[in-house]
Amino acid sequence: MHLHLGEISDSFAHSVHQDFQENTQVQFPVPREKGVGGSSLINCMLYVRGNKRDYDQWVDNGATGRSWNDVYSYFLKAENNTDPEIANNGYHSTGGFLTVSTPPQTNALKEAFAAAAPEVGYDHRDINGEKQTGK
Ligand SMILES: Cc1cc2nc3c(=O)[nH]c(=O)nc-3n(C[C@H](O)[C@H](O)[C@H](O)COP(=O)(O)OP(=O)(O)OC[C@H]3O[C@@H](n4cnc5c(N)ncnc54)[C@H](O)[C@@H]3O)c2cc1C
Repeated sequence: MHLHLGEISDSFAHSVHQDFQENTQVQFPVPREKGVGGSSLINCMLYVRGNKRDYDQWVDNGATGRSWNDVYSYFLKAENNTDPEIANNGYHSTGGFLTVSTPPQTNALKEAFAAAAPEVGYDHRDINGEKQTGK
């Protein structure tokens, strides 16, 4: 069994693997934003809008006009979702400049995670839907 523990240093995030069978720890560096293009150059391209409570907290701290209700319509306006199952469910839209698609490929590990989640009480959800987490 492997467990990921995050550990941030100045220029690298070190991912720590704990191998319980071998009882060893292995570290490997995960590059962060110091290349030309920053984090935008190296991210995983998952389409995640952020959490609505963060937007609302920013307004509480003075960012007038940046509440979730202020920005939400712009997320919809920007999006061109190609997945017919979710494109028009109220949390997505089509026709914008930013094409968002559900990855067509899968693998055994991804399927195993998705199958295991409900067994421990997590729903398998759209991260940009009503709730962001599976709980
Ligand atoms: C490995 C990884 C995976 C990720 N995956 C996802 C994902 O799948 N989906 C998602 O939504 N988000 C993801 N993120 C987060 C996302 O990439 C960032 O939130 C986003 O790129 C930030 O964009 P930005 O324009 O604010 O900053 P950046 O793209 O980081 O741009 C900041 C730029 O400013 C430059 N800079 C910094 N300080 C100075 C200075 N003093 N002088 C001059 N230049 C400076 C940096 O070099 C950099 O080029 C990921 C991040 C990482 C690291």
